[in-house]
Parts: sequence; structure tokens; C-alpha cells
Amino acid sequence: MDVFPGTFTTYYGRGCDECRGTGYRGRTGIFEFMAVDGEMRRLILENVSSDVIRQKAVSKGMRVLRDCGWDKVRQGITTIEEVLRVSQEGM
Ligand SMILES: [Zn+2]
Repeated sequence: MDVFPGTFTTYYGRGCDECRGTGYRGRTGIFEFMAVDGEMRRLILENVSSDVIRQKAVSKGMRVLRDCGWDKVRQGITTIEEVLRVSQEGM
């Protein structure tokens, strides 16, 4: 899957005294939501490993946390580095 289709501009805060040079101000949230249908419920009840459950959810179209972060990068709200910092690979 192409994480960054097309081209877009990323933004970095210059940093100042108020943000102690970080260039970040405030916080934003990134989220993922797993829909539980009959098949997902069965996997959960069968105590299948969370990796398997996660892969199944993704195959059913679940958008993972990091993808939500990439949206915020595209919107200029945060940076690639910050999304990488707060979300795990493959998540
Ligand atoms: Zn600042």
C-alpha cells in the first residue's frame, strides 16, 4: 500500500522561546477503531492472538493508528517524525 500517494508539503515549526524550540504547540489525537462483526467476535472469543485479530481487522478495512497520523502530516498538523515516535511499526 502506498502510504503517501502523490506529493504534498510537510510543515515544521521553526521553534521559539514559547515552545522551547520544539516547533510544536498543543496536542492532537490519532485514533483507530476496530469494528467487531461476527467473524471478529468469533476470533476474539477463540482467544486468537492479537496480531491475527489485527491483521483480520486491517484486511476488513480498519485504518490503523499510524495512517491516522499520516493524515495529520498531510494536513500540516504534525510531522512525520512525531507520528513515527508515537505509533508503532505495522500499527
Ligand atoms: Zn514556538
